[in-house]
Amino acid sequence: MDLSRSERIYARSEHNISRAHISKNALKVLYKLQDAGYEAYLVGGCVRDLLLGREPKDFDVATSAEPDQVKAVFRNCRLIGRRFRLAHVYFGRELIEVATFRSSGESNEGERVLKDGQLLRDNLYGTLEEDVIRRDFTVNALYYTVKGFSVVDYVNGMEDHKAGLLRMIGDPDKRYREDPVRMLRAVRFAVKLGFDIEEESARLIPELSPLLADIPSARLYDELLKLFLSGYSLQAFEQLRHYRLFEQLFPETDKSLELEEEGFPHVFLARALENTDKRIGEGKPVTPYFLMAALLWEPLRQRIAQKVATGLPDYPAYQEAASELLSVQVKRLAIPKRVTIPMREVWTLQTRFKFRQGARPFRLLSHPRFRAAYDFLLLRTECGEIDPSVADWWTKFQDADEHEQKKMTQARRRQPKKRKPKKT
Ligand code: ATP
Ligand code: MG
Repeated sequence: MDLSRSERIYARSEHNISRAHISKNALKVLYKLQDAGYEAYLVGGCVRDLLLGREPKDFDVATSAEPDQVKAVFRNCRLIGRRFRLAHVYFGRELIEVATFRSSGESNEGERVLKDGQLLRDNLYGTLEEDVIRRDFTVNALYYTVKGFSVVDYVNGMEDHKAGLLRMIGDPDKRYREDPVRMLRAVRFAVKLGFDIEEESARLIPELSPLLADIPSARLYDELLKLFLSGYSLQAFEQLRHYRLFEQLFPETDKSLELEEEGFPHVFLARALENTDKRIGEGKPVTPYFLMAALLWEPLRQRIAQKVATGLPDYPAYQEAASELLSVQVKRLAIPKRVTIPMREVWTLQTRFKFRQGARPFRLLSHPRFRAAYDFLLLRTECGEIDPSVADWWTKFQDADEHEQKKMTQARRRQPKKRKPKKT
């Protein structure tokens, strides 16, 4: 690709990025690197988001300085990463990530390691032009500099940005094969930015989605959380299904969705995701375990039903089904123990809502996972999976005072049979 001909510089008057919206610390990093004689730019999500008038989540810097040279410029700097060596510059709680320009040289030499066309290590340093073409989408490859406060564009990214298009840089087939996670990134940005995926970049995804099987499960889990905790999880789910990516991530859930009975599974998931998005929109915390418990509920429910049908009691049926399902699932997504443990609790606590007498309701109420399990119960109720009287009872029980709670949990005495009045 001859880049020199397509370089386009947007002067300050031709774009809407104002310094007032850029982190002071990020600007400091740009100036310091420049003063030390290096090239330095803001790049990636922050430039893309600033152009949309949105507040960036974080600020990433690309520079001609190599990691050790970056470290020499900043006292508050740590070098991290093996697959991708980076400098982290700290300012109190704010972290600015500084990456050296990387080359996308075609060879297998040096620090760029490919296996079956997949990128395993990428530490071959290069020029700005080379750094541009190893990025994923054109709108993610816009560079902002404090030299004239302009935006440097080698890939027509500004035009695509205006058109709201996610276009893979270079040959999409090759770029997806190089790193199949780019397919998930396409969906994430499409949903988050409200952009369309350019035709060819989109058409290839369902064909290539099985390549996700080769991605380490820990990386997939991280990507998945980004997708589902973006505030647009319902749309993300629908897009993942549309592009046949969902079946790669949640094979059991995907199968269970085909067995949809009376619209139940889809409704349950849709409600759960809608709630998640609403909470994020309101700035409330969302726990990955609740989300994951919801995403796997339908296949779990089907397994439980099979076990109960063979005569196994509720509780062991839940336990066994959860173990089986999770052991399949963690092979795809490395859900950490700190998440699977509370997921199992949310699930198995579902068996305890039916006990509403004596000391048991009090014990359940004081369980650290009660609130999450109760929210889960409400979702199940809303979808018609259980009788509303159960959730109503627990709603009332939580708000009742001690006296009222005691009364609610007292064993109901059998009404003495009324004698039939004697016929006279
Ligand atoms: P976000 O707002 O989610 O942070 P982002 O675009 O900044 O979005 P990052 O994961 O922070 O995404 O990556 C920063 C930049 O690095 C991207 O904009 C892109 O240019 C480049 N990049 C990241 N991951 C890849 C990848 N898998 N392949 C190619 N380029 C990538
Ligand atoms: Mg970013």
